[in-house]
Amino acid sequence: MQNEQFQTPQLDMNQLPWVSCSCGGMIFDSGVMVKRLSPLMSPTAKEEILPAEVIICRSCGKIPDFYATKIKSIPEELISKTPNNG
Ligand SMILES: [Zn+2]
Repeated sequence: MQNEQFQTPQLDMNQLPWVSCSCGGMIFDSGVMVKRLSPLMSPTAKEEILPAEVIICRSCGKIPDFYATKIKSIPEELISKTPNNG
């Protein structure tokens, strides 16, 4: 039997790699995107506003792809992707 409890080892921040945007930027701002839940789908039968926290690259102003993969429904045009050659 495997122990289901995931034990987090003592993290040493110094040993963790920094993550960069596909544009190379490494400084990010936090922002909030908002989803609207229509009254038809809402459990309260009222329109609901659902904020979702995102991070935005300061260099290109887009959401880095490593973060966008965590929120599947982010519009393509908001995602910073590695540019195609050509
Ligand atoms: Zn960027």
